[in-house]
Amino acid sequence: MKRSQYAVIGLGRFGSSLAKELIKLGYQVLGIDKDEEAVEEMSSVLTHVVAADSTDEDVIRSLGLRNFDSVVVAIGDDIQASILTTILLKDVGVKNVVGKALSELHGKVLQKIGADRVIFPERDMGIRVAHQLVSPNLLDYIELSKDYTIAELTVPSCLDGRSLKDLDTRALYGCSVVAINKKKGVIIAPTATDMVEEGDIMVIIGTNDEIELFENEVIR
Ligand code: ATP
Repeated sequence: MKRSQYAVIGLGRFGSSLAKELIKLGYQVLGIDKDEEAVEEMSSVLTHVVAADSTDEDVIRSLGLRNFDSVVVAIGDDIQASILTTILLKDVGVKNVVGKALSELHGKVLQKIGADRVIFPERDMGIRVAHQLVSPNLLDYIELSKDYTIAELTVPSCLDGRSLKDLDTRALYGCSVVAINKKKGVIIAPTATDMVEEGDIMVIIGTNDEIELFENEVIR
């Protein structure tokens, strides 16, 4: 099976971290930056690196970017460069262009000119950290909708050795445990007799209110 190929334009803190992680995951990554030093720094890490200005149409065409599965425009500060690059990428036919926005307005513009996905790393990380500060056991969460969330919580010592029947989350709080990640492996769709141990990660699904109630009454 052909593995996806990615290109990351802008090798600042965000772009270089993203590109390195894609390499770690086993993908080929082309990194582009107009700053020679930034390119040099990543040259031994990424599959290919190019020092070039992505607002130059000839650069975008000559690099064959249209053949990449996804191209991430990780330029933030220079909004004009971020916008021009995104337009050029859509113009040459890149299927999936992901744009990084520093503000809501920047994001709206990227969406309007055809970015397939817009990400707001600073805004989203701020929101995540706030959630983790108010719920110390919360490792991660996914908002399924305005009301529903999937949350990953570390099992505290007070729940050690309790079965799901014991916890009875569905009846008492409305939320359900959909997986338990234990040292020896993950139990998907656990049953009533499955037990949680301190340090396990339990994945629960429910409304925000149900999950908050469970956290407040049981986890703390
Ligand atoms: P970060 O927070 O990820 O460090 P940032 O949001 O501050 O980055 P910028 O500093 O604008 O974003 O850009 C990140 C990288 O993009 C820089 O290394 C910069 O050299 C590069 N860059 C900016 N404009 C262009 C361009 N036109 N072509 C190629 N690379 C560019």
